[in-house]
Amino acid sequence: MDKNYDLILKGGRVIDPTNQLDGVHDLAVKAGRIVAIEAHLDPSQAIKVIDVRHKLVIPGMIDPHAHVFRYITGVLGMDADWVGVQSGVTTLVEQGGVSAATLPGFVEYVVNAKANRVHAFLAPYAAGGVGGFSYPDQFTPGTIDVEATLKAFEANPQVAKGMKFWAEQASLMKFGEASIRKVRTIVDQARVPMYVHMGELWRLPAEVHAQFPAEKVLETVLPFMRAGDIFAHAYTDRLGGFFNADGSVRSLVRQAIASGIHIDLGYGAATNFNLVRQGLEQDFLPQTLGADIHAYNTAIKDPHIDTGGRGRFNGHPGVAAGMNLLMAFGVPLEQVIPMATSNPARIFLREQDGVGTLNIGAAADITVLDDLRGRWRLTDTSDDQVITERLLQPSFCLKDGLYHAADSALLSLPEQV
Ligand SMILES: [Zn+2]
Repeated sequence: MDKNYDLILKGGRVIDPTNQLDGVHDLAVKAGRIVAIEAHLDPSQAIKVIDVRHKLVIPGMIDPHAHVFRYITGVLGMDADWVGVQSGVTTLVEQGGVSAATLPGFVEYVVNAKANRVHAFLAPYAAGGVGGFSYPDQFTPGTIDVEATLKAFEANPQVAKGMKFWAEQASLMKFGEASIRKVRTIVDQARVPMYVHMGELWRLPAEVHAQFPAEKVLETVLPFMRAGDIFAHAYTDRLGGFFNADGSVRSLVRQAIASGIHIDLGYGAATNFNLVRQGLEQDFLPQTLGADIHAYNTAIKDPHIDTGGRGRFNGHPGVAAGMNLLMAFGVPLEQVIPMATSNPARIFLREQDGVGTLNIGAAADITVLDDLRGRWRLTDTSDDQVITERLLQPSFCLKDGLYHAADSALLSLPEQV
């Protein structure tokens, strides 16, 4: 006899911020879609049942800051499935590694070839992130082809969802507003958001700091940003971030948030725990949890990538790590789940096809997390530490209803204390 369901996830705590759902439920999947969420579903009606009691069942996690143009972007590019489905993340947004010129290759060799759902915020510069971002000299307004980039957006609306910009002292000093002016033109015509990296990108010589101080970056780029655009690296300790030297949030940042500009965690290597503490005291929180994982901030061995000894584990990067970080500093679970699911869907993807929700009928992109209790030490790159007693750890995910174990080499538990 035909079964009603392909799969039932049985007895988990199901949290779906979009539908204000939070409770113990069974969830059923058929033909890659979510077909039922109820207090009790008959297990005999399913081909397969997975017991998820004491686990969290949430919409498939979304990483809005991924680097997954492997090989093309040198040390930056990870395999999409490592940071994606093998880490419990069903949707990735590649940030700035792909340009109009390399987008067709990205579509064929990453978007269509990997298990993950993958989108991209395009780089404005012609070469994108080719070779890793090791060649600052190619970040010039002369390599921004407005026409070609607009054509790329038009030809690939399902993949190209926005544009990356690096608010970076050296190029602003050399070229002024020339690059960001072109980027504004592109995003206005393509009707997509702009994602702006803040904080020193390359270690700069003293002359640059003298001529174009890091504090000037924000006042230079902000006039080009609009409601719906996003600033990255909330708690970066690099020069030119969101805080004054005394730890207060800059008034221009307050102004930006009030005008509808969003803040992404952009965890990466520069997140500083002291700034997390100070930021939270002032209600300065990200809306989304970009992980910004690349070979510089992990120790994962890739035979084709030589990090020159710079690769290292920085804490435990990933979207779940972003939730764990904020929870360690007192942000409640109910507030961090939307940051990993419904918020990035709305801000980066415009909620297409129910991604970021558990809507009945939506694609069955679902993350299941272990909700662990114990004592673990989280560490930042300046060796600041915080002890946490609760940890969310990806157990598995479904992408379009297909099961993927969370067995990425990137996933490891922090040190137990
Ligand atoms: Zn990045």
